[in-house]
Amino acid sequence: MEHTLMNLPFKEDALEPYISAETISYHYGKHHQGYVNKVNALVKGTPFENSTIEEIIEGAEGALFNNASQVYNHDFYFRSLSGDKSEPSQLLQDWIAREFGSMEDFKTRFSDTAASLFGSGWTWLCINNQNRLTIVPYSNAQSPLRDGLYPLLVCDVWEHAYYIDYRNARASYLEKWWNIVNWDFASERLGAYKYVEFPCDEHSGACG
Ligand code: MN
Repeated sequence: MEHTLMNLPFKEDALEPYISAETISYHYGKHHQGYVNKVNALVKGTPFENSTIEEIIEGAEGALFNNASQVYNHDFYFRSLSGDKSEPSQLLQDWIAREFGSMEDFKTRFSDTAASLFGSGWTWLCINNQNRLTIVPYSNAQSPLRDGLYPLLVCDVWEHAYYIDYRNARASYLEKWWNIVNWDFASERLGAYKYVEFPCDEHSGACG
């Protein structure tokens, strides 16, 4: 199947002054589009020709995996952002308070994780296989889907996400990033989450 670039869920200048229209123009129009184009080129003649992006992430390796994963990651990133103010649902606030103590503690831990990720990558808020929130850094195009995680929110810390606006100051980008988080999206993701009973590990005896 032909993979297509998602529609950007906001106008290119909607995130200003925190992320400029120029950054979004390059990030969405060049980088994100580029990953879609590469998947379409690379998938030809492989067993994944009729696979969804998620199926490619699940089964492919190398360049095809990297580009498909980057399509998914950017789809998720742009849906994680909004120029409209939003608040986490009560349910999400409760989950965050239970896991991290407070919203402020959560933001600090998330930002610290994103700031200290070496090189290019992503920082995710996910639900793990114990039905608990977890903050996870991934390098390059690595995918939380491969680890059975259920993502709620993601921040792109590849330099192309912030270099036009913040140059090398990743910490400044992260500080401003909280102003444009789409909490409605993260709350919807949590609302759609299905609790999973995980079987006990037969080797370690640990239960999910
Ligand atoms: Mn990116």
